[in-house]
This record gives sequence, structure tokens and C-alpha cells, in this order.
Amino acid sequence: MNKIITIAIDGFSSTGKSTVAKHLAKELGYVYVDTGAMYRAVTLFAMQKGYISKDYFKKDQLVLDLKNIDLHFIFNQDIGFAEIHLNGVNVEKEIRTLEVSNFVSNIAAVSEIRKKLVEQQQIMGKNKGLVMDGRDIGTVVFPDAELKIFMTASPDERAHRRYNEMINKGDKVSYETVLKNVNDRDRIDTTRKDSPLVKASDAVELDNSDLTVEETFENVNKLALERIVNN
Ligand code: C5P
Repeated sequence: MNKIITIAIDGFSSTGKSTVAKHLAKELGYVYVDTGAMYRAVTLFAMQKGYISKDYFKKDQLVLDLKNIDLHFIFNQDIGFAEIHLNGVNVEKEIRTLEVSNFVSNIAAVSEIRKKLVEQQQIMGKNKGLVMDGRDIGTVVFPDAELKIFMTASPDERAHRRYNEMINKGDKVSYETVLKNVNDRDRIDTTRKDSPLVKASDAVELDNSDLTVEETFENVNKLALERIVNN
């Protein structure tokens, strides 16, 4: 009899975590949770309320207003996965802009915000049977996850992937700007005090700089099946 497990996929930005996690969840019939979308939605809220801009970050005001942020994932039958809603509004598209990407790591460094989102993530995963991707899933959110993957790829490769993705969406952006955002987020995510991005000691590291999306998926799927059958 197969076990129902928790799968944590952490790693640097644009390593293809969400693509692999989504595919894996579909294969296994598991729930997929994109925790980056939650930090991005809080960032969008802060931008809408004027708490963050290029020149300032009114952190204390945002923290006081956290109780007014409601985040929900709602399954979209047409695309086959859940989309994030901020206070009842689908913000899946708005949270993927470069502006949100430029602020999100500063927002994600705030402990009060992490505490709120981690609690919600732990509730979503309490029955197992989920694939969750982020930065602290294997270290903080589900330290007992049966399978932990830590995805890496060279900054140059990751910036190229993100750049191509944005150009294909019709965004007007330069490669240098995207590379800078990737490097800035790496730096803030790995050096913050609360839950920095770090490989859990029992995570399997997967460098996919030279792997296709399919090859990356095959590697992760194999590890998942081993854990599900042998656990
Ligand atoms: O995964 P994605 O690139 O969309 O995440 C956006 C940002 O959210 C990350 O750069 C990081 O600052 C933050 N994040 C986090 N912890 C998570 C998921 C995302 O700090 N579990």
C-alpha cells in the first residue's frame, strides 16, 4: 500500500521549482501549493496600500494591517491548478510582475509576515498528500517532510529562463534587469535572519543547469516514487 507523503521543494528563484512541483502534484494526485505566490500577494497588498515603494517601506503599518489580508487558493478547472486570491480577488497575473519581484524579498524578510503565512501553509498540509514549493518548506514549514528537494541552477541560466518567460508573456524587460533581480533576491533570501534560504541537511540537491524540464521532472518523480513505495 502506498504512503501519502509531504513533498517539500525549495531552492533559488527561477530554478523551475513550480513547474516541477505542479507536474508532480498532478501525477500523484496531490495538492500543489505555491508559497511564493502567498509572499507575492502580500507584496501586492503592500503596494496597493502604499506601504512600499522604491524609496520607503512602512513595515510597521503593513504589520498592523496583516489582519486584513485574506489569502485563498481556488482550484481552476481550466488550467488544472489552484490560483491565489487576495481578499477575494484573483491576483495570479498581477503578482508576477517585475515590480512585485523587486519588492517581494524585503516583504518576505519580515518575521510577522512569515509567521502568518507559515501557519496557513501548515494547516494546508496537515493531511499530507501535497507538494509545496518555496524557500523554507523543508527547514521550517514541514521539517518532517518525507521528501525534500533543493533545486539549484547557475544565476545566468536562471536569469535566461526568467527573461524568456517574461518576453513570451509580452513584458518589456532587459536581460540585465532580470539578472539583477535574480541576484538581489538570492542575496536577500539567503541572508535574512528569519528562515533564510538554506538546504535542509536531509534534502536531495538537484542542480538542473544542464537538465531539461522533463529531465528535472523525471529525477524528482523517481525520488517521490521511491519514498511513497518504500516509506
Ligand atoms: O517562488 P517565488 O520566486 O515566486 O517567490 C518569491 C519570493 O518570495 C522569494 O524570492 C522569497 O523572497 C519569498 N519566499 C519566501 N519563502 C517561501 C516562498 C517565497 O521567502 N516559502
